[in-house]
Amino acid sequence: MVSDRTRKLIRQRAKYLCEYCHSPEYLSPDRFTIDHLMPKSLGGSDDSENLALACRRCNERHYNFINGIDPETQQEVSLFNPRQQKWSEHFIWTADGLNIISKTPVGRATCDRLDLNDERYDEEDSIRRSRRFWVEGGWHPPAEDPCQLK
Ligand SMILES: [Zn+2]
Repeated sequence: MVSDRTRKLIRQRAKYLCEYCHSPEYLSPDRFTIDHLMPKSLGGSDDSENLALACRRCNERHYNFINGIDPETQQEVSLFNPRQQKWSEHFIWTADGLNIISKTPVGRATCDRLDLNDERYDEEDSIRRSRRFWVEGGWHPPAEDPCQLK
């Protein structure tokens, strides 16, 4: 079990952003979840170094996967690990702030496995629609995230 105190620390450490898709927790109707990087079913611990803040979508899609397939090379690579890797080294926002573009094999495999842009759905039915409202409101993308030039 992850204690309430640890939960609070994880949320603060993540700056209240999902550590995968960088959605802001305060614009979500749900509290974000605590994700195990190494799943408990594979021996992962409840130590804060094994935990990340994740929105429900990302947590469900992360499930108990630790690897994914880079769609460009078909190679199996480990998924993005927010404790060991920097988001900005693997991902960048499109200029309109609606889509995450992956810059590395890890980024591509993670984007694919977690479906970070909700590509199964049309824009109107997907997280991209929410992002569009957040951009209009001036809340997105997060200020420290890299963004393609307009
Ligand atoms: Zn997410």
